[in-house]
Amino acid sequence: MPAAERGKYVYRIARLLQEKAREFAVIESMDGGKPIRESRDFDIPVAAAHFFYYAGWADKLGYAFPNRPVAPLGVAGQIIPWNFPLLMAAWKIAPALACGNTVVLKPAETTPLTALKLAELLQEAELPDGVVNIVTGAGATGAAVVNDPDINKIAFTGSTAVGKLIQRATAGTGKKLTLELGGKAPNIIFADATIDQAVEGIVNGIWFNQGHVCCAGSRLYVEESVHDEVVRKLKHRMKSLVVGDPLDKNTDIGAINSREQLGTINKYIKIGINEGSELYQSSCELPSKGFWCRPTLFTNVAQSARIAQEEIFGPVLAIQTFRTMDEVIQKANNTPYGLSAGVWTDKGSKIFNLTTKLRAGVVWANTFNKFDPTSPFGGYKESGYGREGGVHGLGAYLKLN
Ligand code: NAP
Ligand code: MG
Repeated sequence: MPAAERGKYVYRIARLLQEKAREFAVIESMDGGKPIRESRDFDIPVAAAHFFYYAGWADKLGYAFPNRPVAPLGVAGQIIPWNFPLLMAAWKIAPALACGNTVVLKPAETTPLTALKLAELLQEAELPDGVVNIVTGAGATGAAVVNDPDINKIAFTGSTAVGKLIQRATAGTGKKLTLELGGKAPNIIFADATIDQAVEGIVNGIWFNQGHVCCAGSRLYVEESVHDEVVRKLKHRMKSLVVGDPLDKNTDIGAINSREQLGTINKYIKIGINEGSELYQSSCELPSKGFWCRPTLFTNVAQSARIAQEEIFGPVLAIQTFRTMDEVIQKANNTPYGLSAGVWTDKGSKIFNLTTKLRAGVVWANTFNKFDPTSPFGGYKESGYGREGGVHGLGAYLKLN
């Protein structure tokens, strides 16, 4: 299909998604448990923004990669997790189509509904049959996509453990592979930061989407002199967080995605207590039915503690202190992950120093969890490789000669 035609289809998808945003938001919250305010103000509009953004690139690929012949890869197999179901689908489908590929997408077993609704929308956009195929199922369905010899590219977002399996399965097959895996992001607060603003950034960093976020700011490093102030303000702020019905617009923290995930989170809370860290949870009411977890933090956490090293993927924050820049850089980089980081300070020089020394794909300064289709996203180390978003995201779906 000519590039300009492809761009029109991708644009039409964006427009339809915008029109049906309300319906998609309700389905997303009912299916996965996230607060409606987040699906409505974040997941769905940001998903639409990705289609708008990549629609514009379809006939300008030559500008993205000057003097290099570009061609689509063929069939892209895309496997996504349950934490941002429609948004992850948009991240993957929009650049794939803009670059002229076809798609086989497998949503997570617990959250297939918005991907299926998107399939309906694609029909309404009159995308030719077979260009995008949504296949539901569990891990075995994902493995079938990975192992299909007619699939030329695999884009995977999910756990580091499954990412490693896929890396082995595709080795030597010539399939192009991008991996967006787990994280354990440091959120670093210097004494010169605007503390109230930083506290809001911590709250958003760890309690957005119940902490089911690969780039969640799950490790907090506070400069020693402001530790007590930050913890006191954080505990105070936790009291006002409403845990409950995902469809209620006053809800801050919705349901945990599955019984299995709640089990994992509770296991880590026990580990934290047994490791000698000090637990604090807000005392809010929890609904009687379903899977829920109170906003949780630990103080007195050792760098070697499992709750400071391993991804929990829930609303659990591990707090440590630091005295010097070198110390915090060393601690922040000291996990197997390298997806994202946050820095809170009044000093531009500290920000520039840290952005070059932190091994993280994204470093947010005086903000957190900001996403824009124009900017690349992806990890170092065991957080994966390849970038999605921006011009970088196009390269993942093209043969560049
Ligand atoms: P997961 O278990 O790795 O699952 C991710 C996807 O892979 C699901 O669709 C899953 O299907 C499928 N899958 C499972 N086993 C497979 C196999 N052997 N071969 C192929 N596909 C397979 O991850 P999760 O626990 O659902 O999601 C949370 C993880 O995703 C966290 O580690 C998080 O950090 C990561 N994540 C990373 C990013 C990023 O951009 N870096 C973004 C979001 C999430 P089923 O769901 O049906 O099992
Ligand atoms: Mg899983």
